[in-house]
Amino acid sequence: MTEGVAVDGTTAEAFPPARDAGGPSIGDAIHGTAARLFPICRSITGDGVRRTLAELGALIPLEIHEVPSGTAVFDWTVPREWNIRDAYVRDARGVRVVDFRVSNLHVVSYSRPVSAVMPLSELRRHIHTLPDQPGLIPYRTSYYNEDWGFCMAHEQLMRLPEGLYEVLIDATLEDGSLTYGEHLHQGATDEEVLLSAHVCHPSLANDNCSGLAVLAHLARRIASLRTRYSYRFLFAPGTIGAITWLSRNRERVGRIRHGIVVSCVGDRGEPSYKRSRRGDAFIDRAMAHVLRHASPAPAILDFSPYGYDERQYCSPGFDLPVGLFQRSRFGQFPEYHTSADNLGFIDPASLESSFDILLSAIEIIEGDGRPVNLLPHCEPQLGRRGLYAALGGGRDEPARRMALLWVLNLADGTHSLLDMAERSGLPFRVIAEAAHLLEGKGLLSGVTPLPHPQG
Ligand code: ZN
Repeated sequence: MTEGVAVDGTTAEAFPPARDAGGPSIGDAIHGTAARLFPICRSITGDGVRRTLAELGALIPLEIHEVPSGTAVFDWTVPREWNIRDAYVRDARGVRVVDFRVSNLHVVSYSRPVSAVMPLSELRRHIHTLPDQPGLIPYRTSYYNEDWGFCMAHEQLMRLPEGLYEVLIDATLEDGSLTYGEHLHQGATDEEVLLSAHVCHPSLANDNCSGLAVLAHLARRIASLRTRYSYRFLFAPGTIGAITWLSRNRERVGRIRHGIVVSCVGDRGEPSYKRSRRGDAFIDRAMAHVLRHASPAPAILDFSPYGYDERQYCSPGFDLPVGLFQRSRFGQFPEYHTSADNLGFIDPASLESSFDILLSAIEIIEGDGRPVNLLPHCEPQLGRRGLYAALGGGRDEPARRMALLWVLNLADGTHSLLDMAERSGLPFRVIAEAAHLLEGKGLLSGVTPLPHPQG
């Protein structure tokens, strides 16, 4: 990313730099938030979601919604609320051989309460392990069929002697509500950008403490900016939360111009983006552009009707322009849905890279436009106007010099800045800064302002 080019006060402090000089990085701050979220036992309903939203609410104002169990939402019904206090399997000596207090992954999420003594042969039918990853605890749920179960390392199960075990799941599954949180940043227009992350997984760091933390810090950053679009941040349980939100906001959905579902954005893998169902939405182009400049090997994938909540946003009745941003893709990294998806699996640099990618996409959403060259007959003399001097001779000066030429050449009112960035191979920001420079010298009109600090 280049420094802002300050010429005539016209450019381009657009986005303040991601870190204050000498202060902790935004990546460290995001990792700190993820670390505070990590221990909480979340599910699709219950106090874990509320505590998580309270944690995010310390960073940004959040509107909390409670939707009663039994509420019909399209073809679904808001389920009963699940809360858990304790769970264990105790051996004949009274030792907790499986202990919810050690890891909340040990209990199948949404297990019904149970208190029983049974032989290991019977208990085994309720135990989930990963024989191919014998040291890891799997993550399992039983949301929509009433059941109970424990998850544990396969190698630990193999060591359990036959005999009687005491089993306790001290949980409640009763009428309550489904909870989700929203944060709205009001822009100059009511046209919206939707940024959404699922809030229903227990102690899994990448999936999706990373997404929650990145979006909360992104919301905090955007709150300080004047923007053209309004930004809606949605923190809701996967699937049923998005369905509930859509069913309660049908009239608002038409305002959504761009959207991204964010998950698994803290691991060290290369960034990936799955296009919206439309395939050619503006957000699809913007994210592809950002990823190609952010990584030597990004994955840019076509839509498929499997994944996270883009499945709901892109259902045919809505067909919203919403894609999915991840680093390593769900189901494709060995730590996925296991106890190895822990705080060591995500790192500040990767979180910061994901944050920067989203901010760069927002910069394109906000700053794209179709400027017009006011001196289109042959090239204007740039040196005489101090434009070459204004480039300042840094390492990226050749690229910025080319950007001036590309913008002047393509600014005929039919090409957008993103068109120019794609055709030139230059990053959008370099093109946008060139456009602002040229506008400042009276050579260009119709340049869209980039987001800038409030006040
Ligand atoms: Zn998941």
